[in-house]
Amino acid sequence: MIHSGRLQNKVALITGGGRGIGRGIALRFASEGAAVIITQRDQHSADATVSEILAAGGTALALGDSDVSNPAQVAQVVATALAHYGPLDILINNAGIAGSNGHFLQLSHATWQHIINVNLTGMFVCGQAVAQHMAEHEIKGRIVNIGSINSLAAEPEAAAYVTSKHGIVGLTRAMATDLAAYGILVNCLAPGPITVERNASLFTAQQAAIRSAVPLGRPGTIDEVAAAALFLASDESGYITGSVLTIDGGMLSRVP
Ligand code: NDP
Repeated sequence: MIHSGRLQNKVALITGGGRGIGRGIALRFASEGAAVIITQRDQHSADATVSEILAAGGTALALGDSDVSNPAQVAQVVATALAHYGPLDILINNAGIAGSNGHFLQLSHATWQHIINVNLTGMFVCGQAVAQHMAEHEIKGRIVNIGSINSLAAEPEAAAYVTSKHGIVGLTRAMATDLAAYGILVNCLAPGPITVERNASLFTAQQAAIRSAVPLGRPGTIDEVAAAALFLASDESGYITGSVLTIDGGMLSRVP
């Protein structure tokens, strides 16, 4: 697998890297030669993804019990990554929670706060900790914030999620602006419907609706998102910062 990839000698932190899109990015980055650190709250699936990478000859470390919205835990992750592999070159700010938030008129304050805290504040906490670390070590790094097509358009009964994802676009542009002087590039990847373990049976049930809503006629794959993340994390994206790249099969390009 390894040893001549596009991320050779790079160290990448991937939040929520034990399953779903994050797992796919972790596997791809490791196959491109990066040393990968995976964080999330669940240790078990983080360990399983790391075992898979190690079995393929890659380099990876799992740090469970790490909540992206907890600054102390995130600081510990950055320190542990540094001790194992040296300074971080790449952050994939991927961890997030989805789900229906209910109708706006019934949206509870607690649900609102929880979703904003994980999806938006978590990206700020991880982004700031890693950017400070990159600046301190003079790393001209890459940060990719995983937004959504809901970073650019709403959908029914998802006010907290939609707001958190719109906030990620603002955060990306603000980070890109402040971090440009340090050579740290920050971009947002905005996926449409992407089949992961969590939504696979739902997407099968909604096949006809997805076919008609998406010009390409199908959901995206984890590997397709990982390929776009790889480009934004690689040296090949040297003049791109503050951008939002949709990866949605054309969904946002067409009025229904
Ligand atoms: P999954 O539910 O499969 O994975 C989410 C990951 O985030 C898990 O590893 C989870 O681990 C981790 N996570 C959740 N909350 C926290 C937290 N507080 N601290 C640390 N880690 C956390 O989701 P997807 O792979 O589908 O989604 C990944 C990203 O892509 C999200 O930001 C999502 O909004 C975005 N996205 C996904 C789309 C899709 O269709 N799949 C479409 C558009 C955007 P654990 O629970 O153990 O902490």
